[in-house]
Amino acid sequence: MNTMVIPAGIAEVEAEMIALRHSIHAHPELAYEEFATGDLVAERLREWGYSVHRGIGRTGVVGQLKVGNGARRLGLRADMDALPIHETTGLPYASKLAGKMHACGHDGHTAMLLAAAKHLAREKSFDGTLNLIFQPAEEGLAGAKKMLDDGLFEQFPCDAVFAMHNMPGFPTGKLGFMPGSFMASSDTVIVKVIGRGGHGAMPHKAVDPVVVCAQIVLAVQSIVSRNIAPLDMSIITVGAIHAGEAPNVIPETAEMRLSVRALRPEVRDHLQQRITEVATGQAAVFGARAEVDYQRRYPVLVNDAAMTALARQVALDWLGEDGLIRDMQPLTGSEDFAFLLERCAGSYLIIGNGDGEGGCMVHNPGYDFNDACLATGAAYWAKLAQTFLV
Ligand SMILES: [Zn+2]
Ligand SMILES: [Zn+2]
Repeated sequence: MNTMVIPAGIAEVEAEMIALRHSIHAHPELAYEEFATGDLVAERLREWGYSVHRGIGRTGVVGQLKVGNGARRLGLRADMDALPIHETTGLPYASKLAGKMHACGHDGHTAMLLAAAKHLAREKSFDGTLNLIFQPAEEGLAGAKKMLDDGLFEQFPCDAVFAMHNMPGFPTGKLGFMPGSFMASSDTVIVKVIGRGGHGAMPHKAVDPVVVCAQIVLAVQSIVSRNIAPLDMSIITVGAIHAGEAPNVIPETAEMRLSVRALRPEVRDHLQQRITEVATGQAAVFGARAEVDYQRRYPVLVNDAAMTALARQVALDWLGEDGLIRDMQPLTGSEDFAFLLERCAGSYLIIGNGDGEGGCMVHNPGYDFNDACLATGAAYWAKLAQTFLV
């Protein structure tokens, strides 16, 4: 990254914010436990002149800064939570807490937004209301939705919201934009198969739920290949099967846990219907019964076309084509920022974490946020705010 394009105000705070990132990294907090991280965010924001509001979405923090008389209102979101992973990086600032780790770079997202916050508060180079949203529990527990339920947009109305996530495998600091469906929905399905337990030597007197599970595993894959249009992305992963203890005992029940993804809401609905039909139908064939608990978790993340064009133009004017990721494709992961985009126009973008060093995938015990992205990400936030709030 050409350091010449980083505004002086961001360059000045870069070292401080990298140190802050390392401190957050060393003290990771899981979903809805972001108390120390929330303290740190709130203290800094207050110090820089933001009005600070806590307890929105339990541990969520919103910092608001009004400059001038502008009527426009912008929301920028960072996530603060860590993952239940045992870190193996061996870094000097590695997690001090066994089994907890910032393995998705939310430490970096928080530090990037704080760097922009400090810079923007000093320069006051915008006109309107800036809402900085530090959300808890992005990893699986829908902190964004909890903030909405607690009145996020009623208390802090926004004309647009944006979020940025680092992404290993893309060149360091390059920004990726894509209108429309950008990240998949994510649902969890618990299938309980109820058979009839018995002696392993007398299978004819039992109804074996393990055999039923095996059939369901294969049958649900045919939904992807035979029921969903080939150009519609869909994923069904059976991540867990639990049944039985002893080799000579046919268990009474078995449980399967599935992860289901789609890039269009209609496909998501179709998957739900077919998984339910296939699981219950397969069980019935064998004289067993299947109870399907289909849990809708994160919706498809849909980027607003106009807001994505605006966000991309800010990057283009600043960095040129070379600063952008070419041919951005949808991602099969999911994001609870999707809930915010259901309620407010906006866009979710990515920043490359590096394709060599920094290429270790998120949610891996060897992953680390790439500090070389921090100034670029922070400067981008500042430029977006200065462009939108005029
Ligand atoms: Zn993650
Ligand atoms: Zn993440």
